[in-house]
Amino acid sequence: METVKARTQPELLKILKILDKRMALPVKHKQHILSMEKGYEGEKLFDSLLETYLEAEVLVLNDLLLKVNDQSAQIDSLVITPETVYLYEIKNYRGDYQMKDRQLLTLSGKEIGNPLTQLTRTTSLLRQLFHQWHADLAVEGAVLYVNPTFTLYHASPKDPLILPTQISRHLKKLDSQRVALNRNHRYLADRLLSKHRTDANFHQLIPQYDYQSLRKGITCLACGSFDIQLKQRMSYCEKCEYSCSTDDMILEQIKEFKLLFPQEKVTVKKINDWCGSSVTRRRIPRILGQYYSKTGLSTGTHYV
Ligand SMILES: [Zn+2]
Repeated sequence: METVKARTQPELLKILKILDKRMALPVKHKQHILSMEKGYEGEKLFDSLLETYLEAEVLVLNDLLLKVNDQSAQIDSLVITPETVYLYEIKNYRGDYQMKDRQLLTLSGKEIGNPLTQLTRTTSLLRQLFHQWHADLAVEGAVLYVNPTFTLYHASPKDPLILPTQISRHLKKLDSQRVALNRNHRYLADRLLSKHRTDANFHQLIPQYDYQSLRKGITCLACGSFDIQLKQRMSYCEKCEYSCSTDDMILEQIKEFKLLFPQEKVTVKKINDWCGSSVTRRRIPRILGQYYSKTGLSTGTHYV
């Protein structure tokens, strides 16, 4: 298999996690972080299963957001095989669930929604797109429950659901196709990639924040704590004992600053303040000079 588009942690999740460390985040955003983290873990688990089972020549594109006929189609994983394109909606639910009147419910009856609604829509949009592109490949979609603890009662075998116990069999079936891919498959992958859009609406899901009210200081890369013992070469977290090079720790703070304030110019003064003025002054210009490009003259110097 070849990964044409790798999965990365969603930008929204990254930003919310930084804010969670540095301000009192409203509960609904904290819950959003938890559910996004759970979803992301599930997707990563599926990626590792693909790596394990797929030796055949297939192309994998993750996290695609396509606009088709003015409608958005979000695809967790898409696998291009010689004759069929498979798209997966990945769910990382744990525990026992039941299907009733095509709705997914917990055993106590709490409604989770119809897992097939979005899948049907996305599959249909992808078929329309392939039709417009004259791409003669079948499209098959499935909701894939990746968590090994997930159990589903009363599911119909006809529904396009892949349960944890069926994943390996499904992937082995995909792997058994020994026909080679050709130029057209690669062209299709490139075309899908070029059609991918970043989600412009995700800013609506971020709470208001401003520089002044955020807590300054160096935070642990592992647990987010501010209890950091800064040393010359290696620094460590007093809370979780994580340790890494001091440069790496500071670089991460610079990345966080850039992510939260993409419009702001990165200067030594600002990064020094952002790090809680806990770093020796010579160190920050050295790190910035090493990893970023210096631009502007004397007082206007900043790094991009
Ligand atoms: Zn820590």
